[in-house]
Amino acid sequence: MKFISHMEQALSEARAAAVRGEVPVGAVVVGPDGQVLASAGNRTREDHDPTAHAEILAMRLACAVIGSERLVGCDLYVTLEPCPMCASAISQARIARLYYGAGDPKSGGVAQGPRVFAHRQSHHVPEIYDGLAAEESEALLKEFFANRR
Ligand SMILES: [Zn+2]
Repeated sequence: MKFISHMEQALSEARAAAVRGEVPVGAVVVGPDGQVLASAGNRTREDHDPTAHAEILAMRLACAVIGSERLVGCDLYVTLEPCPMCASAISQARIARLYYGAGDPKSGGVAQGPRVFAHRQSHHVPEIYDGLAAEESEALLKEFFANRR
């Protein structure tokens, strides 16, 4: 199958999150057939929910769409390196491939910090591709935080 990146859609979710006053992170879940199942941006402030990260929301929606607690064969695109909570949820959901943009030295849990997928307790490890549209993802975050100072 031809590789089609869904990072552009994740970026537009991130931009929409920034407009809502949320940290600009966006995520997209793509089914095994290449169809987009769900997309979301951060909503922690709006939902008063510390777990309302883009990845969690997108996976929750995708699970509802397919009627399963697992997203076997699905891909997740997210603009920022997932935090430990999201990385763990990605493992629980059995996501096949994880594509992410910018690395997150402050809160990331994949390539740094707890490195959730490298841990022996991680029962499922997705294929991981990082650095997709990393500059755009990072620029969005920098702009957002610069404007809040
Ligand atoms: Zn997270």
